[in-house]
Amino acid sequence: MAAPSSSYSLLLYGSSLNLSPPPSPLARWLLPSTPAARRRPPSLPFKYLPRATARRFVAPSSPAPAAIEADSQPAVEAGGRTVKGNEGDLLEQRVVLPTNESSEKLLRIRHTCAHVMAMAVQRLFPGSKVTIGPWIDNGFYYDFDMEPLTDKDLKRIKKEMDRIISRNLPLIREEVSREEAQTRILALNEPYKLEILESIKEEPITIYHIGNDWWDLCAGPHVDSTGHIDKKAVELESVAGAYWRGDESKPMLQRIYGTAWETEEQLKAYLHFKEEAKRRDHRRLGQELDLFSIQEDAGGGLVFWHPKGAMVRHLIEDSWKKIHLQHGYDLLYTPHVAKADLWKISGHLDFYRENMYDQMNIEDELYQLRPMNCPYHILVYKRKLHSYRDLPMRVAELGTVYRYELSGSLHGLFRVRGFTQDDAHIFCLDDQIKHEIRGVLDLTEEILLQFGFQKYEVNLSTQPEKSVGSDAIWEKATTALRDALDDKGWDYQIDEGGGAFYGPKIDLKIEDALGRKWQCSTVQVDFNLPERFDISYVDSNAEKKRPIMIHRAVLGSLERFFGVLIEHYAGDFPLWLAPIQARVLPVTDTEVKYCTEVVSRLSSTGIRAELCHGERLPKLIRTAEKQKVPLMAVVGPKEVEMLTVTVRSRFGGELGIMTVDEFIRRIQFTVANRTFL
Ligand SMILES: [Zn+2]
Ligand SMILES: [Zn+2]
Repeated sequence: MAAPSSSYSLLLYGSSLNLSPPPSPLARWLLPSTPAARRRPPSLPFKYLPRATARRFVAPSSPAPAAIEADSQPAVEAGGRTVKGNEGDLLEQRVVLPTNESSEKLLRIRHTCAHVMAMAVQRLFPGSKVTIGPWIDNGFYYDFDMEPLTDKDLKRIKKEMDRIISRNLPLIREEVSREEAQTRILALNEPYKLEILESIKEEPITIYHIGNDWWDLCAGPHVDSTGHIDKKAVELESVAGAYWRGDESKPMLQRIYGTAWETEEQLKAYLHFKEEAKRRDHRRLGQELDLFSIQEDAGGGLVFWHPKGAMVRHLIEDSWKKIHLQHGYDLLYTPHVAKADLWKISGHLDFYRENMYDQMNIEDELYQLRPMNCPYHILVYKRKLHSYRDLPMRVAELGTVYRYELSGSLHGLFRVRGFTQDDAHIFCLDDQIKHEIRGVLDLTEEILLQFGFQKYEVNLSTQPEKSVGSDAIWEKATTALRDALDDKGWDYQIDEGGGAFYGPKIDLKIEDALGRKWQCSTVQVDFNLPERFDISYVDSNAEKKRPIMIHRAVLGSLERFFGVLIEHYAGDFPLWLAPIQARVLPVTDTEVKYCTEVVSRLSSTGIRAELCHGERLPKLIRTAEKQKVPLMAVVGPKEVEMLTVTVRSRFGGELGIMTVDEFIRRIQFTVANRTFL
């Protein structure tokens, strides 16, 4: 029998350890999907859709969403709602995975699994020292001081865990005094455990035994016995180095990550989700489809948009601008640098400095790359005296900003150092806030529906303890935000006191094809910057008044949004966004001349088409499939004779033979309706 041992789990005591579990994937996905199902468009045509729906925000598990200015990071969280699958659709079955918040049983299982794993490790590796082992989203981990582990070791450890589970050992709680705990730990020679004991303030100290020969310091809760764990619902995922207490000067530990669920079906669903997320990874697809790159020669976090990615961006920007002009915005272009003094006035040098790059000296004056666009838009407002009749004034800019991010935190398109915000600022009267916010909500919906995003989670954040501006204006603005949301008919959650110090805000998360949630849109009222820049308008009594400023973004950052889109569509862009919409493929070289004519006909109507030849047709088709070109127009002798093409769609399958005019008409209709052909 292995020597008695024990370990400390800091599940309840863990808050002081600043544990940072990996970002949580989602809790729901599609099972099992065939290649055909995978290729199905993730969304319905927007013209045929009812209005978007906003759902109540369920138990926020991530840090409060950052303001428009601060967010360039993914806000992915676990969902947990039941979404009804399409009845009669056998290809796709929704599995709803429980979360630690939604299922106490699951939490107990994960908690217990961490201990079972520690027990297994200490049996297999005598001398290994235990440290902490919390549950996390999707599972658990445990850190050990021991020799580096391999994947083969993980298999052995899992086998040993299975044995422990099969023995159905009881988990027995014992209360001991601090002295007793110390004595037992010293006897086991577990230095980390001793350190943890010192950090525990609560008494009595509780110990959980697994059977008779292993125990762990822990506050619970656990399952009653190991038999409550389904060993087929547990898997060890990976091992990684992690410093004790996250401190580089401390020993490097071995952290084993595991995933645990209530049932085998749930585990399978989770693994499929993980696989699907990997398949959709925008960094891999970005390379495979030649959309963008981040180049070592230029530096981390700086994005190069290749022709195909740039085309998608151009289409997004083009549509964005059109919609903004329709909604009464004016477009702006402003510089990427400004005198450091501007950032003193705005206050950024005081509270945002760590996100800003070093200043540069230009003819003895200090300049700075911009981390935000707001002060520039204020300067545009300030260029002349405004009457109340000029308001509201809405200005929008696809404004590129630069923010300092540590190289270790950079992540594909999701966290970068230079990015373009789809920024806008509205200057208005107090009484116009509600109308303006409502307008922003309408515009946001119009833009997001184009991409098939129709489910939102909306959050309204109100006045925090420390704030600028009178209580009266806070009340007025908050009511306006609330009224606008009610008016729109969207469900929302109120984050009481969660607003920025300078004003209340609305955040909106979109849900992607995998059920992951991404915060993109923000509307933020600001009572601060108008004050700092001393901007004003002249009211009907010829008196100078302070306008209200509203910041807002719909997509957030184009880089990050593009990353979300790539993963949402798995690289299969809908026809209106596809960089190449149609490939014309000759059966033999004899048809090349006619194909060239077809391509120029298509191109002359603005359709993005290209000719591909020089290979046998099946190869040409395979290549087009691989590059996710939505439409293929195949041309053989018959098509040349009849002046037609035979069309094949990635989504719709064989569409049959049609004239070039018919082909063009159908493409144009599909593009105009933002649908899939
Ligand atoms: Zn425990
Ligand atoms: Zn702003």
